[in-house]
Amino acid sequence: MVEQLDELYREVILDHFKNSSHHGALPGAQVNADGTNPLCGDEVAFHLKLDGDRIGQVRFEGKGCAISQATSSMLAQQLEGKTLPQARALIEALKGVMQGQDPDPDVDLGDLEALSGVRKFPVRVKCAALSWNVVESGLKEHVQQKHV
Ligand code: ZN
Repeated sequence: MVEQLDELYREVILDHFKNSSHHGALPGAQVNADGTNPLCGDEVAFHLKLDGDRIGQVRFEGKGCAISQATSSMLAQQLEGKTLPQARALIEALKGVMQGQDPDPDVDLGDLEALSGVRKFPVRVKCAALSWNVVESGLKEHVQQKHV
């Protein structure tokens, strides 16, 4: 059973890695942030277009391992249409999942659920966490700019 789940997770991750519909530039994005995971050589940049308090389009660019790039793709997909508080709740839930907690039932992880298989590999957790750390810092910066 566990092996079957792992198989499914691997397929979801590889599918996002190979054919992401959210990969690319996003001219006019109000939130732009990037980061690296030097341990693995992963690089990710996120671009978010906001419509008031709601996230419209999300695109990411980057290079690195399958986990880092697939997580970015899954996160981009899951963030679109969310309000900023919902986005923050999603990121908090993901951090919790990586620490072995069950996700908040109110938070829909979508394909990101596949990442619960990653937490067994501590080195890989950093690859996954890169994407939401980048988004989190980008959103923080955006909020600060708005209130200056
Ligand atoms: Zn990596």
